[in-house]
Amino acid sequence: MNIEELVNKIKIYNPESDSDMIKLAFEYAKKAHGNTKRKSGEPYIIHPFQTAMILADQKMDDTTIIAGLLHDVPEDTKKTVDDVKKEFGKEVANLVEGITKLGQLKYRGVDRYIENLRKMFVAMASDVRTIIVKFADRIHNLSTLDALAPEKQKRISMESLEIFAPIAGRLGMGSIRGQLEDLSFPFAYPAEYKWLINKIKGTLKKEEKYVEEAKKDISQILAKNSVKVKFIKGRRKYLLSLYRKLLKHNKDLSKIHDIVALRIVVSTVAECYGVLGLIHQHYKPMKGRIKDYIAQPKPSGYQSLHTTIFYKKGQLVEIQARTPEMHEQAEYGIAAHWHYKEGAKGKSKKEAARDKLAWVEELLKFQKQTSDDEQYFESLKLEFFKDRIFVFTPKGDVIDLPEDATPIDFAYHIHSGLGNSCNGVKINEKIATLSTPLKSGDLVEIIASKNRKKPSKNWLIFVKTGSAKSKIRQGLNIDKRGVIQKALHAADGQIEYLTKTKKIKKKK
Ligand code: MN
Repeated sequence: MNIEELVNKIKIYNPESDSDMIKLAFEYAKKAHGNTKRKSGEPYIIHPFQTAMILADQKMDDTTIIAGLLHDVPEDTKKTVDDVKKEFGKEVANLVEGITKLGQLKYRGVDRYIENLRKMFVAMASDVRTIIVKFADRIHNLSTLDALAPEKQKRISMESLEIFAPIAGRLGMGSIRGQLEDLSFPFAYPAEYKWLINKIKGTLKKEEKYVEEAKKDISQILAKNSVKVKFIKGRRKYLLSLYRKLLKHNKDLSKIHDIVALRIVVSTVAECYGVLGLIHQHYKPMKGRIKDYIAQPKPSGYQSLHTTIFYKKGQLVEIQARTPEMHEQAEYGIAAHWHYKEGAKGKSKKEAARDKLAWVEELLKFQKQTSDDEQYFESLKLEFFKDRIFVFTPKGDVIDLPEDATPIDFAYHIHSGLGNSCNGVKINEKIATLSTPLKSGDLVEIIASKNRKKPSKNWLIFVKTGSAKSKIRQGLNIDKRGVIQKALHAADGQIEYLTKTKKIKKKK
């Protein structure tokens, strides 16, 4: 740990950073925390320092970095928010205060859960950077979970998966979300994690090797054709995201071609298409795998061109082409508003971010008008989770489900018995897997079997609706806590976006 390391890291993306102020905040925190130690036995100051380093990965502004350095001062030392305000000003103090208020997030009981969500939204609405510091704090805590007792490991990892990661996703922060999920995964689902690591070991090595070679070959092709590449590099898929994808494909690894992909960033949209054309001139693309998310962005706003090519010896390699702006959006999401841009003014950045978060404000306005939790979740349904799909039963009835809902969600939506006996599905008259994400307009026919008496544990990992989740649990008789379920029921199945993955409580 060396403060110069942090200061230098910031200077790379923000030449106007006030290094003296950053150093001052570091010394202030160091002095305030004194001889306090973390559970791991390390000096406490390592934690706020690493939190600030993670914020620097996100290319955050000085105010956020300083708040990261000071974020545990009011909670854990004799210094107060007022002391921080005197030394570092109102903006930093407000952030630190917001983070301190979030600090008591505990995963206990349905009321606490709802209260926690509210706190997150309140913090987001006042300054979304509060949440960004909280994410960085959590990422460092997750990366040092080893030092904690198993029960705490479980609680913190589950809370990260159920509350933090989905909110990061909703804010478009792909790299934060991926880190939160992948650091939590081994603690939240140890068996599934081990299974995955074993499963992909060989393939991962092979793909990494081919992608490295493809990188050299394609760089040459692009250079020969005078394409100026901003950067080109292999990226490995996040592990939990890979696991979810595998579940959708019956755990068949051969169906997945982007464990490692080659990412090419060029300046303009025209160059993206140019890159794709050049690559297709040299390598045969795989049928059905050319995806133009520039002309047709994903619902999340994600943009890029994707193609899968037959590289040497029939090895498939996925290539992604995008502009720096698309890359920023995909990786940093809302945090990109605080990135240094020459000539840009601080205030306009903050306003731009606020515009994007208008839905949070709406949610809070509504929340003030109601003390009814059910109504509150109703509003969540409308605002936070507004992407819905409409699918048809064989009789022509319309069923309304959240986006990416699966046939299992559909079956449970119709009837618990249908869900429990669900053995297969036809989508638009074709057999499909039970984890296939449904699309608006799909005709869905559930194939029930008398022989199936119980739901499958694996369904819990890909179903989207809370009601399906709690019915599966009932069917398996594996969760008697009824804690989060109540929230899920109250939400009428809408809270699932905040609870994408659920703990599977093992029978003792
Ligand atoms: Mn902390």
